[in-house]
Amino acid sequence: MATIGNGPHPLVQMLGLDLHWGRIVTDRFMRVPGQEHVWALGDAALIPLNDNPQEDPVDYATQTAQFAVREGYQLAANIMASFKDQKLKPFAYTSKGSLASLGMSKAVADVYGFKLSGVLAWLLWRGFYLSFLPGFAAKFRVGINWLLNSVMPPNLVQLRMLPPATRYIHFWKGDRVFEPGMLIDGFYTVINGAFKLTIDNPDTSEHFEKVFGPGEHFGERVLVKSELRTGLVEALEDGLLLFIAQKDFTRFARAFPFLDKYFTDYIEKTFGGTDKAFAPGSSNQQPGSPAQPKPELAKTR
Ligand SMILES: Cc1cc2nc3c(=O)[nH]c(=O)nc-3n(C[C@H](O)[C@H](O)[C@H](O)COP(=O)(O)OP(=O)(O)OC[C@H]3O[C@@H](n4cnc5c(N)ncnc54)[C@H](O)[C@@H]3O)c2cc1C
Repeated sequence: MATIGNGPHPLVQMLGLDLHWGRIVTDRFMRVPGQEHVWALGDAALIPLNDNPQEDPVDYATQTAQFAVREGYQLAANIMASFKDQKLKPFAYTSKGSLASLGMSKAVADVYGFKLSGVLAWLLWRGFYLSFLPGFAAKFRVGINWLLNSVMPPNLVQLRMLPPATRYIHFWKGDRVFEPGMLIDGFYTVINGAFKLTIDNPDTSEHFEKVFGPGEHFGERVLVKSELRTGLVEALEDGLLLFIAQKDFTRFARAFPFLDKYFTDYIEKTFGGTDKAFAPGSSNQQPGSPAQPKPELAKTR
């Protein structure tokens, strides 16, 4: 038995939009009330299915791909209609049922109220997923593959194609290394070039900038946080970074107490503490120059 939940990404909480049950509130057309040109759909959105929705999940589009795909079509049509000053269409969809594969060529199905199980349900399940593959070529290739696999066992091949956890990455001038909202991935050391970190605190309107040159590093807050990036780092000139993936960097730093201490002190000195994004008053710092003392700390969400 698997109990797997699905829910909005933490980023949704950071958008400052009205939320209900953790989802972005929309009207029946998938517009976000009180915002211009902002729409929401899918798991992250709470889309009413009638004009008088109650505090009952059945009055809202469910968080399934079945709904999300239809919402996508309807939202695209509504955006087009809004450009052309045409009437928008409210989202409406009734689930056709559900299918679940049980493995060993067996499945269960509840389609238009008809309940099926066994091989017939499994064929229906396969046919349904095949129909959703984009384009004839993909459908044909997968269909033939499934057919062959049913009479001949598939060849099993294991390929380890993960990129090395530590690698050099080249950036051209103007390239973005990461930006706010991206998942924290690892730690970066500058081999050559110059990279600028900018953090804008939306709560306090404070602005922080720091330029990193050869031998300096950024992204060390992966040691204390595993959330989303709050800063933007861009290349001021062509440059090379050494990247270490979060897990490996954390293991490495934790294995050497002096490294752990170095980074903890660095985070304290540069950002004013583990739960702070930055401290004001340290802007325009040049590569190699010592960190400025921080008069006051800015707390981010
Ligand atoms: C285990 C499981 C089984 C499921 N089975 C079914 C099923 O059989 N039938 C069914 O109808 N539904 C099923 N669902 C539900 C279905 O998967 C979701 O309802 C559907 O995928 C929602 O689509 P979405 O586009 O809203 O979100 P998602 O499909 O979650 O897409 C969001 C995308 O945004 C990306 N993203 C997130 N943060 C960032 C960021 N900061 N920057 C850039 N990209 C970002 C994510 O990587 C992801 O690709 C299942 C869900 C789970 C978890």
